Amino acid sequence: MDFNELNGKIKSCTNCRLHKSRKNAITGEGNFNAKIILIAQAPGEIEDSEGKMFIGPSGKIFDRLLQNAEIQRDNIYITNLIKCYLPKCRRPSKNEIEQCSAYLDKEIEFIDPQIIVTLGFHATRYIFKKYNLNQPPKKEYKNLFGKQFHINERIIFPVRHPTAILFNPEKEKIIQENYNMILKLLS
Ligand code: SF4
Repeated sequence: MDFNELNGKIKSCTNCRLHKSRKNAITGEGNFNAKIILIAQAPGEIEDSEGKMFIGPSGKIFDRLLQNAEIQRDNIYITNLIKCYLPKCRRPSKNEIEQCSAYLDKEIEFIDPQIIVTLGFHATRYIFKKYNLNQPPKKEYKNLFGKQFHINERIIFPVRHPTAILFNPEKEKIIQENYNMILKLLS
């Protein structure tokens, strides 16, 4: 299987109930030779309509965080844990994560990144589980943001999702500091 085949499967996927309410299943975007992969939770409503990642309100914040951190979108690969819009931006269910995460696993296998940046709770929890990292209780996940976890040659780096700034603009400074670390992690 290659990326074309994988993305074709995602676009036509009916493995969970989200296929009934989505307009577009959103595939990952960016550089297939990237050393850094960023994993968000799921597409928003605008992304669902337009068929592209991070173009809605949180996408604007995401672009600003990357720009200030001097990270070019062309040099990284970005994707979601869940490929279809979650109605009313609700949380993903256990079943939806189980069904959809096989696509993310393949993307990680293809990209083979040096650094995995997880955006927010659900992507972080999935990656911690995948790599058998100690999982804290849910309310303590916030303590992981901005810290590095080493798995063999790979670094897992959880940061807050850009959406957090939509709800709490005063958090932008501290979140930006975490994004500023990303390029510094590259050896
Ligand atoms: S969310 Fe994932 S598993 Fe569910 S229909 Fe979309 S692509 Fe398939």
